[in-house]
Amino acid sequence: MKIPLLTQRQTSDQDLVSEITPDVSVVVPIYNEVESLPHLISAISQSLTESGLSYEIICVDDGSKDGSQELLRELTKTKQPYLRAILLRRNYGQTPAMAAGFNYALGKVVITMDGDLQNDPADIPLLVEKLNEGYDLVSGWRKNRQDAALKRLLPSKIANWLIARVTGVKLHDYGCSLKAYRAELVADLNLYGELHRFLPALAFIEGARITEMPVRHHKRQYGKSKYGLDRTFRVLMDLLTIFFLKKFLTRPMHVFGLFGLGCMGLGTIIGMYLTFVKFGLGQSIGNRPLLILAVLLLLAGVQLFSFGLLAELLMRTYHESQGRPIYRVREILDSARQA
Ligand code: UDP
Ligand code: MG
Repeated sequence: MKIPLLTQRQTSDQDLVSEITPDVSVVVPIYNEVESLPHLISAISQSLTESGLSYEIICVDDGSKDGSQELLRELTKTKQPYLRAILLRRNYGQTPAMAAGFNYALGKVVITMDGDLQNDPADIPLLVEKLNEGYDLVSGWRKNRQDAALKRLLPSKIANWLIARVTGVKLHDYGCSLKAYRAELVADLNLYGELHRFLPALAFIEGARITEMPVRHHKRQYGKSKYGLDRTFRVLMDLLTIFFLKKFLTRPMHVFGLFGLGCMGLGTIIGMYLTFVKFGLGQSIGNRPLLILAVLLLLAGVQLFSFGLLAELLMRTYHESQGRPIYRVREILDSARQA
């Protein structure tokens, strides 16, 4: 059994840390999961120890108030298994918690899962195996999902169908937190809002090879779910964002410009018609609804058009200030460097 070089990691020498690469980093957001925590940690370490993979567990405490933080403090005092706890200052939400975990993960493969034991740590080695078949992301599919039918399963079925259609990534279960990522992919993913649900779609935008595999799912044993039905609306809004990002991130003018010119064109035609009515036919046009429409269309058109220009500038700033290329390289083949 390989434990990931525990002693080196615990030295104060910061440089050493960057040299240590465990096979797997397990990232778990924790918000008020004090009862589940000890079971979770031991189940993860048992599963990975049996598989022979070296690993680290990263628990990101998202401002828990139920003693999870104190428990993590205790658990990190014991040297086995190798656990790092990132304690956030307040409750930010699951997405920022996962983003924090991604930032601190050192492994070649990053696994995300929930802290409530609904995902089964025994599935981790299977996900890693699947990933090694040549994928960048393997998403879990809770085939036998153990949640309330009407409140959870139905909205999720509709959402999954919608997301698959809009994003073009055909997965059965976007909401499953249990996923495996190649580390290079994680480095390219920028998370905002509640976009953790759309990680496969974001990964797809980055050109990742994505697949899914059935995983186990259990009823929540301890604590309460942190979400209600209200998340449906947020999912819909996020879906719009993703749709826009996927299609127009590097060419916003193609959408705003098109609508802008369309509005302006229509407004001009109506305006010309009204001019003809006024001066050609000598009728009064002051009380015609068409006049209001023409003015509205012209104004909206100019606004959309200039918005598109601004968006083009913003997009350039976004890419150039962060040194983000507008493409992603999978591999470089170089005949001079062949072994
Ligand atoms: N979570 C978090 N911050 C939050 C809400 C949730 O870190 O503000 C964590 C939570 O502790 C759990 C995971 O996100 O590990 C998923 O939450 P939950 O199990 O409540 O979601 P559900 O399974 O009901 O969709
Ligand atoms: Mg849960």
